Amino acid sequence: MKLRFTILTLCIICALQSCKEDAAISHKFFDTANMDSAVKPGDNFFEFVNGKWIKNTVIPPTESEAGAFLDIYNRSKNNMKLIVEEAARASHEPGSIEQKVGDFYAAGMDSAAIEKFGYDPVKPYLKQVVGIKDAAGLMKFIAQQQTEFNVLLFGQMIGADEKNSTTNIAIYYQGGLGLPDRDYYFKTDSETQKVVTAYTTYLQKLFTLTGDDSVTAVKKTALVYDLEKQLAGSHKTNVELRDPQANYNKLSVEELDKQMPAFGWKSTLKEMGISADSVNVGQPAFYAKVNELLTTVPLDTWKAYLKAHLLQGFAGALSSDFVNARFDYTGKALSGQEKMKDRWERIINNVDANLGDALGQLYVKKYFTEDAKERMLQLVNNLQKAFEARIGKLDWMSDSTKQKAKEKLAGFIKKIGYPDKWKDYSKVTIGRDSYFNNLVACSKNEYAYQVAKVGKPVDKTEWLMSAPTVNAYYNPTINEIVFPAGILQFTFFDVNADDAINYGGIGMVIGHEMTHGFDDQGAQYDKDGNLKSWWSPEDYEKFKAKSQLVINEYNGFVAIDSMHVNGALTTGENIADLGGLAIAYDAFKMTKQGQDTAKIDGFTPDQRFFLSLGQIWRTKMKSELARQLVNTDPHSPPLYRVNGPLMNFTPFYKAFNIQPGDKMYKAEADRIKIW
Ligand SMILES: [Zn+2]
Repeated sequence: MKLRFTILTLCIICALQSCKEDAAISHKFFDTANMDSAVKPGDNFFEFVNGKWIKNTVIPPTESEAGAFLDIYNRSKNNMKLIVEEAARASHEPGSIEQKVGDFYAAGMDSAAIEKFGYDPVKPYLKQVVGIKDAAGLMKFIAQQQTEFNVLLFGQMIGADEKNSTTNIAIYYQGGLGLPDRDYYFKTDSETQKVVTAYTTYLQKLFTLTGDDSVTAVKKTALVYDLEKQLAGSHKTNVELRDPQANYNKLSVEELDKQMPAFGWKSTLKEMGISADSVNVGQPAFYAKVNELLTTVPLDTWKAYLKAHLLQGFAGALSSDFVNARFDYTGKALSGQEKMKDRWERIINNVDANLGDALGQLYVKKYFTEDAKERMLQLVNNLQKAFEARIGKLDWMSDSTKQKAKEKLAGFIKKIGYPDKWKDYSKVTIGRDSYFNNLVACSKNEYAYQVAKVGKPVDKTEWLMSAPTVNAYYNPTINEIVFPAGILQFTFFDVNADDAINYGGIGMVIGHEMTHGFDDQGAQYDKDGNLKSWWSPEDYEKFKAKSQLVINEYNGFVAIDSMHVNGALTTGENIADLGGLAIAYDAFKMTKQGQDTAKIDGFTPDQRFFLSLGQIWRTKMKSELARQLVNTDPHSPPLYRVNGPLMNFTPFYKAFNIQPGDKMYKAEADRIKIW
């Protein structure tokens, strides 16, 4: 649903200084030096806007990409660094969030202690695995590990019941793989094989680092890989996972136990602290397969599997030989990163992941203003008005469905900047002695928090991202749009920028998130967040036919080498990009600048709006990362997040005089318009 979460670099244009209006605004917010004027805007607008930048940018060895996102992320990261270093330096009241953030960081930076411990912290877990006697003992161990967020074999989430959205339910997902997606186990091309080899090399290394000789390590790796491949065979594809109805299977625990006695639902749930009569099993075929494998696969193979997955889960927190082995697979092979990031960067990411609301409180106090929140709320409200007007004018939808759509739109909950209520860390003890223990303490606290929600009313004030996060999301079961403080920065947004920049930037993002409420998945949820149709059957058929046009068009786009964009996997994001552009543009046209003709840097207000949109997706990435994303990411590559929507948008044709013969040109009747 979200904008892709990325790890990003390199500040090219930092508009930290404020400046006032008119001509003075100019290149502070859009630098024409990044453009390639040799490219015709109608041939490749992304290149036209970013061509020189792409030519001149070198991806740093510690990164797998460079671009606008990374610039913002780096700015946030440096701000977070100041916060955590300050917290670590001063002596704070024991138990305060400053003390916790500071000690967590200090323990993580204590590489000498971490080195000395080696893999000692994992040894008690490995010993337990050795002692497992049968399938029941195996499931008990797995269940216990879940309570520390050592996710083994399957995934669990506590969230709204999609057909009773005011109440939380335990949801179970397919899982258990070490490669990024089921398809990696079955593809035979050489690029996939490189990744598979890197993964099995990683597993062998984990075995030898923990006492197995090399022959045993190779043997165990083969067994683990084969078991994973059998699990992968029962997985739904990432396209099949996009169908919310098919992935909703609320079943009674009694019935589940009858169907899958070896899995032992009742005892497993009890061990995990879940007390419920029924749960939602997202992908029953996967669980049926696990049930079967529990009786057919030898216990020793399962033990090798558990050891491999425990070590994968912990490797990042152990001594450098584990960290390096992990990096060779996840950093180099999967993402094309040449060098590991500095320790401080890695630890800051973990502070954010584990104490996000503590760090977030300190972050917004220093780096987020009420001004920005105010301006952002205005933008969101303007976009909402523009969207409502667009729904009213749709030529393919009946009035009764339009009415329902408008009600859903009006029902959006808007969250901007940071939560009203911060998460409680009072029960988490953080010290400087053991980084590993800190991680476990945070995990246990988070698990207890999550599990306590089962069967309780959904808390609509909860946030699913930390305040410093450079991202945004739409959540269909709450019907909410959420914009953390992290994304409210230039290149997306600046309180001093002109409207063309802000509407083409964050406006596009707001419109995108709003449209998620009406994409192939979001359209299936009503205004109250229930998975329940609000469409007339005829209108829904028309919507599906239009969505199919989007799928077909994006299937035609080449992502890298001979790999095409997966139109079905990316359809929700592409619909959101198409809608986001249209809504943001309409809202921009309601502003003073949107109705004006005064040029900045030789560009009309409309042109500048589109330039801003081209600028926010400015990205250059390593081929390894690009391939991984085509296989797994529901977002299209940046090039098509710009050119895809624009080639379907008539005001863009007018702004840049796009003509037949230009490569992006489509006849007016062929341009796709849904929202
Ligand atoms: Zn999205």
